[in-house]
Amino acid sequence: MSPGLALRRLSEHAYAAEQPRRGTGWSNSGLVAAGGGLVVDSLYDVPLTRQLAGLYAEVHPDAPDRLVNTHHNGDHCWGNQVFEGAEIIAHRGCADRFADFAPERAEAIRTMADPPEALRSIHDEWADFDFSEVVLTPPTQVVDGDVTLDLDGLAVELLHVGPAHTEGDLVVHLVDEHVVFMGDVLFHNCTPIGWEGSTDRWIEAIRRVEGLAPDHVVPGHGPVCGIEGLQAARRYLEDVRDASRAGWEQGLSVLDCCATIDLGEYARWDEPWRLAANVHRVYRECAGAAWDAPFDSGEVMRDVAELKRRLSD
Ligand SMILES: [Zn+2]
Repeated sequence: MSPGLALRRLSEHAYAAEQPRRGTGWSNSGLVAAGGGLVVDSLYDVPLTRQLAGLYAEVHPDAPDRLVNTHHNGDHCWGNQVFEGAEIIAHRGCADRFADFAPERAEAIRTMADPPEALRSIHDEWADFDFSEVVLTPPTQVVDGDVTLDLDGLAVELLHVGPAHTEGDLVVHLVDEHVVFMGDVLFHNCTPIGWEGSTDRWIEAIRRVEGLAPDHVVPGHGPVCGIEGLQAARRYLEDVRDASRAGWEQGLSVLDCCATIDLGEYARWDEPWRLAANVHRVYRECAGAAWDAPFDSGEVMRDVAELKRRLSD
């Protein structure tokens, strides 16, 4: 259970379900209460998503007809089964990677009595979740590009902006009410972290949404914001990209490069140590790696853990 999970009305038909925690797994969701109901993302586990569905039922009593998954990370889709009977819409890049990581594996790590050092941090971060009931419930409707849905005359655009945070990133745009649901293309007051994708494409994705001039922006993690949240996240990615390219040219290690970066206002965002993952990504790009080239995520997360240790000292 999330004691802080709260529903907020943003416009005539749009609602955001926000979680006060912003770190690993504490994601937001959205509801468009029109045309049979459309939910944007389920939550990380079944109890949390049942709580979410209960909140949505207060404003949209019928079970929603549609569920959009913004991407394949479990904190946005492992509760899908709760919305039984809904059409589940996602980009092909989400559908293809949907089963990449098994909830059974997460539950095994979460419940380890004495986890090995490499798993200790994720074991701790998962302490308040419960993956035991999760049955992977994949998309039933796969899209390959931008799509516009008609919810009883209300236009809802699904914009494919990936690969940014992941390959299948979809942004949901409620055109007439100026609301966007960003998935993890936006972390607000929280440091972003990306997987497959590229820094430049991520910046481009955010710029595209800035061009829509939304009034209400629902990030994947962190509180609802306006366009200034998009601008801050884009500036972070631009600043980290530029500093990392300089570090790469000087031959600095990732952690030494991190030490040269003055986080300034970004130091107050949650999870600032994710900087190491973002520098790693730019380093891979400087070395010529394609956006979907496999990489050693263990090495990346070791540097994230080490930077966390150094920043906490
Ligand atoms: Zn997420």
